[in-house]
Amino acid sequence: MNKKNLLVKLPKVDEILNDKKIEELIKKFPRTTIVDSIRNKIDEIRKLILNTDEAEFDKFEINIDSLVEDIIWDVEKRNQMSLRKVINATGVVLHTNLGRALISEKVIENLIDVASHYSTLEFDISSGKRGSRYSHVEEIICQLTGAEGALVVNNNAAAVLLVLNTIAPNKKVIVSRGQLVEIGGSFRVPEVMAQGGAILKEVGTTNKTHVFDYEDNIDEETAAILKVHTSNYKILGFTKEVDIEEMVLLGKKYDIPVIEDIGSGTLVDLSKYGLTYEPTVLESISKGADIVTFSGDKLLGGPQAGIIVGKKKYIEKMKKNQLTRALRVDKMTLTALEATFRLYLDEKMALENIPTLKMLTMDIDEIKQKAEVLHRKIEQKIKTITAKIIPGYSQVGGGAMPLKDLPTYLISLNSKNLSAKGLEELLRKNKFPIICRINDDKVLLDVRTIKAEEFDIIAKTLNSIENGRKI
Ligand SMILES: *Cc1c(COP(=O)(O)O)cnc(C)c1O
Repeated sequence: MNKKNLLVKLPKVDEILNDKKIEELIKKFPRTTIVDSIRNKIDEIRKLILNTDEAEFDKFEINIDSLVEDIIWDVEKRNQMSLRKVINATGVVLHTNLGRALISEKVIENLIDVASHYSTLEFDISSGKRGSRYSHVEEIICQLTGAEGALVVNNNAAAVLLVLNTIAPNKKVIVSRGQLVEIGGSFRVPEVMAQGGAILKEVGTTNKTHVFDYEDNIDEETAAILKVHTSNYKILGFTKEVDIEEMVLLGKKYDIPVIEDIGSGTLVDLSKYGLTYEPTVLESISKGADIVTFSGDKLLGGPQAGIIVGKKKYIEKMKKNQLTRALRVDKMTLTALEATFRLYLDEKMALENIPTLKMLTMDIDEIKQKAEVLHRKIEQKIKTITAKIIPGYSQVGGGAMPLKDLPTYLISLNSKNLSAKGLEELLRKNKFPIICRINDDKVLLDVRTIKAEEFDIIAKTLNSIENGRKI
């Protein structure tokens, strides 16, 4: 067959559009991208024909079915959401780059309700008048933390900014040199302080700060004392930090508020479950801190938010700050936060239903069982890849409990034909990206952060990788 005859046999765009499978595709995706994809694919074949030696044409065949499959693949890929789900096989529970805390299934129901319906966002049902968006969460937060008042903003960085801007504009705030923390590059205590309009007065040294360091620096220009939880690092050895009780005594003596940024802000004492001790919000408040700020999506396990709790007079002042409007949260955040807080009314319910807490407190036997199930599913699908169950460690992540390694079980993968880097890349670029770790030239899957319903996808993907199929 010569080139000309073969080119004549090329399918037309309309022909492909009439294919049953393509008709189905048109119901799901924009027609324009489908037509574009069909044109491109036909064009590719045309170029291939033009660039191929006529002697080889005997073997050349235009297979409409595989062309259609190619087009479906291409259209699905082009229409993929940029922000989409991935499988977290890293074992880092609060993985900042992978979206930090997972929202509880129990909370999702409320989210769908509020997102797709009109709601009581700023409407008071009993009076029929305008209400406040903050009212939905204030009471329950106060109930759970023992605080007099509460306010929610976009994230903890915003919370600290708002607190400083309200309490200490153009005034001094005293902070220990051991607590000038940086969290993930974009939150640095000295910078946030400057943005908030407060003047940083750093005292003490990196490893030791005493009560007298704070006291000697208090003057008429001092608006507050700030304690920052060193969430993502620990200063070990010859150290001294002033605890919150001592700061509160000092604050009372000079009539200045004590602010504590506790970072993660857990409501449950996680040391009961074998994790590192982290200050709880209730504790901070009961020890007398005037204002406490924490994140919604770290150990609390809710949506991204910054929660401010404390004395009523300060909270009321913050509500009136113009910045509050700029930092305000939307109905999705408020719904997820209220529903998450409600789970904490019963600690057992919180541990069972909040994914972050569930993953962090998972029993090692349960993890082992999970690893065995995944291992079995993988084994059934692979030939050139070997999979082994090995013990290892997971991490809390999110800048919480930096020194804590949680014992876990991993699936270690070794491919005959691919390097660990090559296998990692193919898993990552999968239609459902699978994000994993590499150690000692093996790809590691930590089952702690993998959902059971994701096991089949992993097994299937490994099978496709082995067979060099599109994934
Ligand atoms: C994480 C953290 C922050 C920043 O919180 P975001 O919610 O990420 O804005 C601020 N301070 C401390 C101590 C933290 O641990």
